[in-house]
Amino acid sequence: MKNSKSENLYNLALELMPGGVNSPVRSFSGVGGTPPFLSKGNGAYVTDVDGNEYLDFLGSWGPLILGHAHPSILSALQNAVSDGTSFGAPTEGEVELASMIKSSMPSMEMLRLVSSGTEATMSAIRVARAYTSRDKIIKFNGCYHGHVDSLLVKAGSGATTHGAPTSSGVPISHAKDTCVAEFNDIGTVEAIFHQYPNQIAAVIIEPIAGNMGVVPPANGFLEDLKALTKQHDTLLIFDEVITGFRVANGGAQSLYNIHPDLTCLGKIIGGGLPVGAYGGREEIMRMVSPLGSTYQAGTLSGNPLAVSAGIACLQVLKDQSVYANLEHLGALLEGGITEASKQSGVGITVNRVGSMLTAFFVDGPVTSWDQVAKSDAGLYANFFHSMLKRGIYLAPSQFEATFVSSAHTESDIQSARDTVIEVLKEIAKGVPFRIMVC
Ligand SMILES: *Cc1c(COP(=O)(O)O)cnc(C)c1O
Repeated sequence: MKNSKSENLYNLALELMPGGVNSPVRSFSGVGGTPPFLSKGNGAYVTDVDGNEYLDFLGSWGPLILGHAHPSILSALQNAVSDGTSFGAPTEGEVELASMIKSSMPSMEMLRLVSSGTEATMSAIRVARAYTSRDKIIKFNGCYHGHVDSLLVKAGSGATTHGAPTSSGVPISHAKDTCVAEFNDIGTVEAIFHQYPNQIAAVIIEPIAGNMGVVPPANGFLEDLKALTKQHDTLLIFDEVITGFRVANGGAQSLYNIHPDLTCLGKIIGGGLPVGAYGGREEIMRMVSPLGSTYQAGTLSGNPLAVSAGIACLQVLKDQSVYANLEHLGALLEGGITEASKQSGVGITVNRVGSMLTAFFVDGPVTSWDQVAKSDAGLYANFFHSMLKRGIYLAPSQFEATFVSSAHTESDIQSARDTVIEVLKEIAKGVPFRIMVC
């Protein structure tokens, strides 16, 4: 496989941007090696600058549920662009996208469009604090909600310990109001409520964790969380930046029939352009300026190009058969990986909800961060590069989701399955592996 152009670009990029990238995990920091520089996407396939083609299961980290360069999105963009790229004034498209979102997720009675998932969670937390006049929040170990100061916190050893910031540059004063509970362990949430009575503004959760790899909620966990937040007059925030319009048209909240007070969206609702949204009960959203005293704004919020792509994407997703097909393809891929694990003897646990899945290199079950953390990330790196070499592009980290899109065909999935079997058998034989480093 040729990669000289990628290597040259990477070397230039390294001098210009930290790690050569504009978002850390793109640097292959989790698996080592030189990332291919991608130049073109079409359906389920991407091409790099050296002309290598890959079957893509990254899907730009989640937004591309319809695959690359979907014709409806392209034509929506082409129509929108000739009318101008930004107004900083209200537009019809914003109303249309907001109304499409609300009709799919009725718990979002009123919402705001922003430009990223990070902005959505940051703003939702601010509104929750304003509405409850409380400062503390609870998040879950292993859940990611964008690079918001107060959310860049994971658990210490005990579930109720205050999180220390995971990132330098986050003041202790920003992290001290963030409490960290264990995903799928309601007792750790109860303990925090007990420790801080009447002080918790909100509990924020990925209803299906996607940022520690896919970890679905245990039976009854979200129900318990809903009951507990209600009991303590605390707001429940679902961060559906990945799961919104991914696991169902109505997101995880429709799948599990739990209605959060606030919801955060991103990724899919922009159809591959930068869009986020947060919203929920009208009474809460009336806190937001100019109706209320909670300030939140954005020069490019509701950008006409981004919104046109989002509308086109959600239009296609109105057809429920898209989700049935994604479930079918997801199950096919899951079955293939499980079978390959059996045949090769390499221990793998596949967690999947619809078209999002993670193959953890560990014997299961995997239901919490502690179990996720037992995965063999080194073995995954080996697997990742062996797959990449054979033209299959996966997430460059063990702790991420693999995404199937509606552009994948059964034969794409079949060829991915065959490749997984071949690679795992090679790994089982202990074939020495060398990562390409420039
Ligand atoms: C990607 C993601 C975010 C952050 O969204 P950005 O658009 O990258 O800022 C927040 N929450 C979850 C669950 C995500 O997966």
